[in-house]
Amino acid sequence: MLFKDFIRICMRIGSTSSITEKKNIVATYLKELERSEWKSFILFLVGKPIPDSIEGGLGVGYSTIMKALKNPIKPLFPSNPLTLNDVFNELIKIAYIRGKDSSKRKFEALASLMGRMSREERIWLSKIILGELRIGLVDGHLLGALSNVLGLSLEDIRRAYLLRGDLGDVVDVALKGVEALRNVPPRLFSPIRPMLATPASSIAEAYNMIGGGEAAVEVKYDGARVQIHIKNGRVKIFSRRLTDVTYSLPDVVEIVRNGVSVDEAILEGEVVAYERGSGKPLPFQTLMKRFKRIYNIEEAMELIPLKIHLFEIIYLNGKLLIDTPYSDRYDLLVERVSEELLANRIVTSNIREAESFYKRALDYGHEGVMVKRLNSPYILGVRGKHWIKVKSKETLDLVIVGAEWGHGRRSSWLSDYYLAVYDPNSGEYLVVGKTFKGLTDEEFQYMTKRLLELKVKDEGFRIWVKPEIVVEVDFNEIQKSPKYKSGLALRLARITRIREDKSPEEAATLEELYQLYERQFEKKGKVI
Ligand code: AMP
Repeated sequence: MLFKDFIRICMRIGSTSSITEKKNIVATYLKELERSEWKSFILFLVGKPIPDSIEGGLGVGYSTIMKALKNPIKPLFPSNPLTLNDVFNELIKIAYIRGKDSSKRKFEALASLMGRMSREERIWLSKIILGELRIGLVDGHLLGALSNVLGLSLEDIRRAYLLRGDLGDVVDVALKGVEALRNVPPRLFSPIRPMLATPASSIAEAYNMIGGGEAAVEVKYDGARVQIHIKNGRVKIFSRRLTDVTYSLPDVVEIVRNGVSVDEAILEGEVVAYERGSGKPLPFQTLMKRFKRIYNIEEAMELIPLKIHLFEIIYLNGKLLIDTPYSDRYDLLVERVSEELLANRIVTSNIREAESFYKRALDYGHEGVMVKRLNSPYILGVRGKHWIKVKSKETLDLVIVGAEWGHGRRSSWLSDYYLAVYDPNSGEYLVVGKTFKGLTDEEFQYMTKRLLELKVKDEGFRIWVKPEIVVEVDFNEIQKSPKYKSGLALRLARITRIREDKSPEEAATLEELYQLYERQFEKKGKVI
């Protein structure tokens, strides 16, 4: 398929608002395409220029793209029109340009690729790279289309997707057939999508949500989640955003080597920074410094000591444990891990006992507790009713999609932020409020730099950015709002922290915000 024909398809998909119609168009073309073209076709449709599994991404920002758009490098001889795979292969080459002068070399490679394109093709390529395709397709829709066209069950495809963590990889596996798909093992040293929790406002509510009875109540540590892959002494640690952070955490690697006795496993836990002496948990922002550190790690280890609290085992010696009940998984974990590395927990059906455990956790400076159903499978990548989080204050994780320049003292900072929820049905991020409150001067500076890197549109006083940065937001109330397309607005929003460990797809969804809106209404009703 020629890249210019792909653009026509994108236009058709973008012109209908019906998801079914969009999926039908995708399915029709998949049937016509060579199978070798499926991967690039599918990835480009969801606005991914390269597979997610390529460490470090494409490494090309807004300004480089704009420069290449304005200054394409024309080839010496006229070339054939570019196919989809020509473009895909060139982008992969650009991603792998690393090391000395890489920015310059990436620019030259991109400008040369653009030099072989028409103006329209250049613009569409920029949209793909910036994640600005806006034709309303997300990974889930493509999994559906794959399932339809290949006659494979959506459940099998979804499972492979969550285990492999990469849409491109799923295309490869699905094309090999049902056997390969069903038996896809997690790839050790390549992270899988973690199980997520649903919030509750009290212990009683949490017990209610899991259907009552006996449950595990674990401390909810205020740290960063990690996934630890182990094979014969080799250890790799991935952050919640599935990036490899092994290099920054040699002390955690050491703790795992000494305290875990397994040949092959995937474990999960929370890494927390503690103050020397008092042993109290240190703020999340301090912990994040450790995760990002690539220089002077020894010094950082001294200043910010880390501990790990393990709470899951997902894979053990060739066997995937996601369908094994949580209580059995926990037994396997206990057998192989030193006690001091395990998350603190009790198992009880007594709500009073659970409440007093919760109170003690808060008194100690932890974030709250996780109430877990004992017979729950490990559900990849989904926020279900098996893990319920109870915290002292309800906050929302929202995505920054735009920002305005400040005034007066703040005039050199992007300091007023547009906050959005995620709509998994359309893949859109919908604004629900704005805030300039909550960050320190240092954080404003940092945010300004990050946001400029993510810029997709410049309106002078305001920029719009690729949805990438997640922030935890405290608020006073949720109101109906005709001003925003989401229909809701937060009153008195304030950022409580930058959640660099979370990906934008993990942010609060539109549906969740509507549920919270209703719930708050119920509470108000009771007070009156
Ligand atoms: P939240 O980030 O508020 O959605 O809460 C879920 C997160 O809590 C998980 O992703 C973990 O990073 C963290 N967490 C802390 N302690 C635990 C625990 N004992 N079990 C599961 N998750 C935990």
